Amino acid sequence: METITHTEAEIWQLLEQVCDPEVPVLTVVDLGVIRQVSIKDNLAEITITPTYSGCPAMNAIETDIKILMSSYHIPVVINTILFPAWTTDWMSEKGKEKLKAYGIAPPQYQVSNELFSKPKNIECPLCNSTNTELISEFGSTACKSLYKCKDCLEPFDYFKCLK
Ligand SMILES: [Zn+2]
Repeated sequence: METITHTEAEIWQLLEQVCDPEVPVLTVVDLGVIRQVSIKDNLAEITITPTYSGCPAMNAIETDIKILMSSYHIPVVINTILFPAWTTDWMSEKGKEKLKAYGIAPPQYQVSNELFSKPKNIECPLCNSTNTELISEFGSTACKSLYKCKDCLEPFDYFKCLK
């Protein structure tokens, strides 16, 4: 029987190696899907909350975590909790920066006090122009929308806000 010699903090660090299959620059820690890591009775318990419900990426993430932990001889059990639901608020600032560097507009919140005010345009991750238009509600995956920048003329994915 293996004995866990890793601390919870070390397991958090190891989890930085698990990337989102859809956006490989983001780790599961950046995404904020890891809710809790605890070690009990020689078993690492990792609690995750899926991002978009039904996102097939989540099965891949769970498998990747299991493979990673077994490569470090860490017995692991993964719990999935659906409530409270994941929101894009949980994405780290570092994660949002990485997303933008990758060419995907990070989730942007519409801050408005006025009722019926026109929503602010999504900022182009390439040239920062807000002169952009929605092409399709669904981009390369269901989690993203496809936009086009009218200034640099480049299409880009926008990681949708989820509240
Ligand atoms: Zn642009």
